[in-house]
Amino acid sequence: MPPLNELYDVVVVGGRVAGATLAANVAKRGMGVCVLERAEFPSDTLSTHLFQNLEGLERLGVMGQLLATGAPPLTEFRLRVEDVDLTQDHPDMAMLNIRRRVLDPLLLNNAEAAGADIALRTRVVGLLHDERRVTGVRIEDPEGRPSEIRARVVIGADGRNSTVARLVGARRYNVTENERAGGLAYYEGVEPHGVLHFYILGSTYFIGSSSDSGLFMASAYYDKADHRRFREGNGFEDALATCPPFASLLKGATLTAPPQFASRWQGFFRESAGPGWALVGDAGHFKDPAPGQGIADAIRQAERLAEYACYGIDTHSLGDQLARWWRWRDHDAAEMYWWAREFGRAGVQSPVVVEMFRRIAADPRTLRAGHAVAFHQQRPFRIFSPVRASTAAGRLLARGGTPRGKVVADLLGLGARDFQRRWRTHRPVYEAGPARAAQEEPEEVLH
Ligand SMILES: Cc1cc2nc3c(=O)[nH]c(=O)nc-3n(C[C@H](O)[C@H](O)[C@H](O)COP(=O)(O)OP(=O)(O)OC[C@H]3O[C@@H](n4cnc5c(N)ncnc54)[C@H](O)[C@@H]3O)c2cc1C
Repeated sequence: MPPLNELYDVVVVGGRVAGATLAANVAKRGMGVCVLERAEFPSDTLSTHLFQNLEGLERLGVMGQLLATGAPPLTEFRLRVEDVDLTQDHPDMAMLNIRRRVLDPLLLNNAEAAGADIALRTRVVGLLHDERRVTGVRIEDPEGRPSEIRARVVIGADGRNSTVARLVGARRYNVTENERAGGLAYYEGVEPHGVLHFYILGSTYFIGSSSDSGLFMASAYYDKADHRRFREGNGFEDALATCPPFASLLKGATLTAPPQFASRWQGFFRESAGPGWALVGDAGHFKDPAPGQGIADAIRQAERLAEYACYGIDTHSLGDQLARWWRWRDHDAAEMYWWAREFGRAGVQSPVVVEMFRRIAADPRTLRAGHAVAFHQQRPFRIFSPVRASTAAGRLLARGGTPRGKVVADLLGLGARDFQRRWRTHRPVYEAGPARAAQEEPEEVLH
């Protein structure tokens, strides 16, 4: 580890997707930046590892290295919701699946190559202040020795339980609880292929794809109430076997390690800018992982924050620029946040939602637009709109076969939640009590 300077333009706390992307973008602008990361790399972090925003990674200059990991670009979306087939090919909209123990070090090396100083196994334990703003951080090096680094701006890219957020007292708003839990495992022996598999059958989402190094990732998102059933014994593998495409894909494949599970997380926004500090990635905002947006969002946010922060430093308007960035982040993330919440609701899909999917599948252009939601190219509630829900309900009633009361209740529920998300986007509900950020216990359970 090279010796760190006493002063940087930007100190980034946390060195995974958000932190490494931010640091690379700051360094490329010729500013002094260091990344402080408490973990040793390579190491894992909780994720299903599917991501979009390959444009952002192309701009970072890492696409060649990412493809060299053996992860095939996923351009065929094989999607099914109950009996509705939503499969389509998109050579121009690819995803990748790369394990974080591979992706994160690669991004951090890229930041270093761009000129950022990197310190692993280095924990931020406090902030420095003058009477007006945050001016730096207090750290402990790998041997636990304390020291201080000064900075024009300190960015917390330190995840959901952000230390920086706790130290500045950033409050959370529009907090939501998860209704699903998830498990994932990696298999050997599945021929690598460029297909994203996503099947919603009953109350379970089955998601899978080829990953780096010839591995195949299989995951399931299910009702939280079913967690014990999935976790115990061969519950996870037995569940995968109930999904016909997974049963045939995994025939003869070998599980490389016991499945990992996550059962508890919260969605939230957090106050994300103040005098001399800002939060990026999960530190400032976390959404239900069902639509797999966190990594792409972290990359997009970090690119944008680098632009605003560097401009602010150059023009002595840092406070204004960070505040602008926070407003941009909220605007950028709001609709997907509520849609991810909707998508992450427990239970089977309602008949109205299945009918909406049926109508979307019937028209290739609408289907393409539906898939584009996952790429942040289409607003989710333009596709899953109240008008489309009403039309679907009307069709169900006309066709008969679904209890009228059920259709009406589903439609009213969708409408009420749509109203609530619009209302809360404009009038955020802040968490009661003192600012809550880093907790002693992580929110997720991973075992
Ligand atoms: C179950 C689950 C599944 C998911 N699946 C997907 C998916 O398929 N696709 C997707 O795009 N997203 C997924 N996500 C979300 C995704 O993992 C996150 O959005 C992403 O990791 C955010 O990256 P980040 O850099 O902001 O934070 P993190 O990846 O959390 O990194 C924060 C870093 O900060 C470091 N740090 C923390 N405190 C300190 C400190 N005091 N000093 C120094 N360093 C510190 C940590 O060690 C850590 O390395 C999933 C999340 C969950 C919970």
